[in-house]
Amino acid sequence: MNQDILVCLEANEDELHPSSLELLGKAVELTQPCGGSIYGIVMRDTRKLLNDLRGLPLQKVFVCRSCHTYDAQECAEAVVECVRQVDPSVLLIPGTCFGRSIAPRIAVACRTGLTADCTELERTGDGGLIQIRPAFGGNIMAKIVTDHTRPQMATVRPGVMLPCAREGDRMPELCTLSGESKGRVRLLDIQPVKRAAGIAAQKVLVAAGRGVKKKEDLRMLNDLAERLGGSLACSRALVEKGFLPHEKQIGLSGATVCPDLLLTFGISGSVQFQAGIRRAKKIIAINCNPNAKIFDVAHIPICGDMYEILPKLIERLKGVERKGSDNAGLPLVGEKIDF
Ligand SMILES: Cc1cc2nc3c(=O)[nH]c(=O)nc-3n(C[C@H](O)[C@H](O)[C@H](O)COP(=O)(O)OP(=O)(O)OC[C@H]3O[C@@H](n4cnc5c(N)ncnc54)[C@H](O)[C@@H]3O)c2cc1C
Repeated sequence: MNQDILVCLEANEDELHPSSLELLGKAVELTQPCGGSIYGIVMRDTRKLLNDLRGLPLQKVFVCRSCHTYDAQECAEAVVECVRQVDPSVLLIPGTCFGRSIAPRIAVACRTGLTADCTELERTGDGGLIQIRPAFGGNIMAKIVTDHTRPQMATVRPGVMLPCAREGDRMPELCTLSGESKGRVRLLDIQPVKRAAGIAAQKVLVAAGRGVKKKEDLRMLNDLAERLGGSLACSRALVEKGFLPHEKQIGLSGATVCPDLLLTFGISGSVQFQAGIRRAKKIIAINCNPNAKIFDVAHIPICGDMYEILPKLIERLKGVERKGSDNAGLPLVGEKIDF
């Protein structure tokens, strides 16, 4: 049985989006038990972008030249054409704005099922794809299979899978997808917008939860985040209170983060919050409730009142800065902290 995987590679003019590398990392894992080749499709054909395909585990990449208008319908049609040529068993699409806009159109055209926003993918014994995602408000992880139709389609939440490693600089075979642009969108001009890096890209995060009593108290947490060279984030509780905007929210309905260091203050550690922090390398949790669920996943659990601990932590960091530590970014890990 054909076990090939087609990966829809999101990219800008210069390089692949990190979510494309994450999908390729997972595709490699999925081909290991049952074989199959990995194919890709990109919607741009700039020299820099094609060069970014070097060393990736791709047998062949379809390059679509007519999709430069970013028209979702046109991009979806290009992927459907590619599906007809490759006849893959699995089609993976990033769960980004771009991926979410094309995936349902492709599923309808291919008359197959689609599981959106998967956080894990596994194989069944006979090579089927188990598409795993939180359901019922994140309280259960649903395992979904597409038994009767192909391809088995899934969009995957950015930031949850490990990106694939590049090996050597082999260029995958390139194949131009023919076809004139039939889209209804006419591209007049492109004006790139510079966006500040979001919390998903930060190496250090200080996350605030409902334990924060007043909005002004966030100033202290922001001060701590800046001293550590990181950024402020929060649980959904603080977004609902109007203390911080949604782009600062970690979790199931917020961002998936993968910082080297995450400090949480007054966060209970609900399943929905934990869904966003699985890839955090070191978690220091401060909570006054010894039974808080966040302590189950924290590497360093600190039980106490954040309003007593936080000023001491900041004072201590000021001391480290005065001494001129050359690792001011991560001075706490491995050190004994007396409160
Ligand atoms: C479909 C759905 C999606 C959701 N998505 C998300 C999501 O993406 N992200 C998210 O965060 N939530 C999400 N939620 C909400 C989630 O269920 C929780 O309600 C939320 O995470 C709770 O936030 P919290 O931990 O800040 O608040 P709480 O659960 O109220 O916890 C506050 C904690 O602060 C501690 N505390 C209080 N005072 C102090 C103090 N002085 N010092 C130290 N500790 C103190 C308490 O002991 C407590 O543990 C979602 C819910 C649903 C149904």
